[in-house]
Amino acid sequence: MIVILHPNTDTASEVYREALSYLENLPGVQMRQHHIQGSEQKLTEIYLLGDTHKLDQETIESLDAVDRVVRVSQEYRVLGRHQDEHRASGFAYNGVTFNQNNLNIMAGLCAVDTPEHVEIMMRALQSFGQVCTRMGAYKPRTNPYSFQGHGKECLPFVFELAGKYGIKVSAMEITHESHIDDIHQCLEKTGHPTGVMLQIGTRNTQNFELLKAIGRQQEFPALLKRGYGVTLNESLNAAEYLASEGNARVIFCLRGMKSSFGSPHRNMVDFAQVPVIKRLTRMPVCVDPSHSVGSREKAPDQVLDVIHASAQGVVAGANLVLVDFHPEPTKALVDGPQALLINELEPFLEDMAISKETYDKRVKLWAKATN
Ligand code: PEP
Ligand code: MN
Repeated sequence: MIVILHPNTDTASEVYREALSYLENLPGVQMRQHHIQGSEQKLTEIYLLGDTHKLDQETIESLDAVDRVVRVSQEYRVLGRHQDEHRASGFAYNGVTFNQNNLNIMAGLCAVDTPEHVEIMMRALQSFGQVCTRMGAYKPRTNPYSFQGHGKECLPFVFELAGKYGIKVSAMEITHESHIDDIHQCLEKTGHPTGVMLQIGTRNTQNFELLKAIGRQQEFPALLKRGYGVTLNESLNAAEYLASEGNARVIFCLRGMKSSFGSPHRNMVDFAQVPVIKRLTRMPVCVDPSHSVGSREKAPDQVLDVIHASAQGVVAGANLVLVDFHPEPTKALVDGPQALLINELEPFLEDMAISKETYDKRVKLWAKATN
């Protein structure tokens, strides 16, 4: 059972104390609190675990601090929607809001290589009003002899350049929990010029110890990639691992499934599941067209498959697009052949704006048609 308090309830207030002391004394029930800072309000949710079926919902709802009570199913306890369409989604981090209604773009380098390339990318992003990017420092590679990413060596110049160009959030995959400390320490040393969203790659979707470690810290939000060879339910449970440890600031990213049926694309694009994730959970939904499609092939309409796939995700309601760009793809150390070019950034952003507008129009159309 989840007890949702009125937005911005002060934890020092009398009504809060009264609600807490009532809930604390319920027999056979443990209590766990989650505080979620949104862009405009702070939400407090109290999870009641254990013997809750006998509890009287109305009595709890009559407490002054309580807005409403949601009876939850076992699945996705914290992140689940539990058939309540009105529960708040998403979070704000470092001045950027991520939720199930808006759209952010994280265009950037698959893997950080040189400071020059990072600077060209970030300068271009700033010139088009972007405040997010992707910057891979730790790369999980299939082949042990392939470039593994510059790791913590590149963090100082990445963070300083991000600060210089007004980048607020960089998605950065980590493959080991020690990387959280590297990132934390480097941000401290450089004076917190920017923020980081910890990315969990498709190969680590079920690395439960890594999930728990990311869930235990509260400093950074997380971007969880769907596992490429497990069911959607298993991947959503992986997200719930993060939340159950205390970090509910999670974005779920579709990135295609490993299957030869997707050929000639690198993976089988799964963006038709954007609305499914929104229905089942309150997580903002991301699509990664680069690792799904995996090439710069284009249709006779001259639009790249990667860009068509991005638009398909956004027209279906995606809230974030994580996409590879590179100033000189032939020199990229990872995934150059699928990268978009800097001169494609402006039309790409325009295409995403058109796609989001189309999504919003579609939602209005169906609201009218079903009323
Ligand atoms: C990436 O985004 O850099 C990446 C490696 O993606 P995935 O984990 O989806 O393969
Ligand atoms: Mn890549």
